[in-house]
Amino acid sequence: MKLSLLPFLVCRACGGSFSLIPEKTEGTEVMEGRLACQGCAVAFPIVRGIPRFLPQTIEADKKATAAAFAYEWTHYSELTEADRKEFLAWIAPLTPDDFKDQVVLDAGCGKGRHIHLSAQFGAKTVIGVDLSDAVESAFGNTRDLPSVHVIQADILHLPFANPFTLAYSIGVIHHLPVPKQGFLALSSHVQPGGRISVWVYGKEGNRWIEQFVDPLRKNITSRLPKFITRCLCFPPAVLLYAGLKLLYKPAVSRPWLKQLLPYSEYLCSISGYTFAENFWNVFDQLVAPTAYYHSRDEVVDWFETAAVQQTTIERHNGNSWRGTGLLLLP
Ligand SMILES: [Zn+2]
Repeated sequence: MKLSLLPFLVCRACGGSFSLIPEKTEGTEVMEGRLACQGCAVAFPIVRGIPRFLPQTIEADKKATAAAFAYEWTHYSELTEADRKEFLAWIAPLTPDDFKDQVVLDAGCGKGRHIHLSAQFGAKTVIGVDLSDAVESAFGNTRDLPSVHVIQADILHLPFANPFTLAYSIGVIHHLPVPKQGFLALSSHVQPGGRISVWVYGKEGNRWIEQFVDPLRKNITSRLPKFITRCLCFPPAVLLYAGLKLLYKPAVSRPWLKQLLPYSEYLCSISGYTFAENFWNVFDQLVAPTAYYHSRDEVVDWFETAAVQQTTIERHNGNSWRGTGLLLLP
């Protein structure tokens, strides 16, 4: 943990600020130590460089979902070339310019690919949050960036007031037990006039996943030991990879072929992926105990409830929603 994170942290119990009690430091990072509230008796540990704001108890489903993604992002921790293009597609119409000098929150930062990019885009401060042990990868991938911080915490219990001028959550809210609650929690940490951006699975365009893949995920693959699920993903990943390279990649420049193929908008968009990217995408679909598919109306309702203005909600790749807007000015 870098000292410059301290002014952002607020105790949820009393609203007080924290004292930092370092026990082991490496350069600018406090690797081990404690954060003790100055207003009450609450304290949180810093372990391996990461402040751990974990609640005493975490619901079983939430814990299992966090463990699933921890497995994914600690076994597939590298940042890739595709990350930038994907991120910009998920947050559009926002562009790299919208990050300049902003105070940015990434809710559900996984291995840290987007906090890394946010810093590259010129953000003043970037704080990545994840409930899972993926924070270990995120910290490793970003510790050399002076403006980036990583903490382990639940999106519903973040140790912040509302210091953020831009908050985003990519592919995370649909894995929460009550997604709307997650969206409202995220928006509560954004300053009036600040921006919020989310990307979630769509109900529209994913009927076949809900009908055929979801029962498999819910009843079998999310319950198996992660290593077994990983092995089971290999045959479908090989089939998908072959289909992407033989059919969907050629279809990118052949509109007539694209029209003939099913699910082509999405599959053409990932047809350039490496086998590893493709394999972990399959794993990602099959491993989480909790996943929802949201209609456009639901996403609109989240934005309206949070009093977000100038909202843009767009369909992405025919199977998901990306939404952006401004928090109401007082
Ligand atoms: Zn306190």
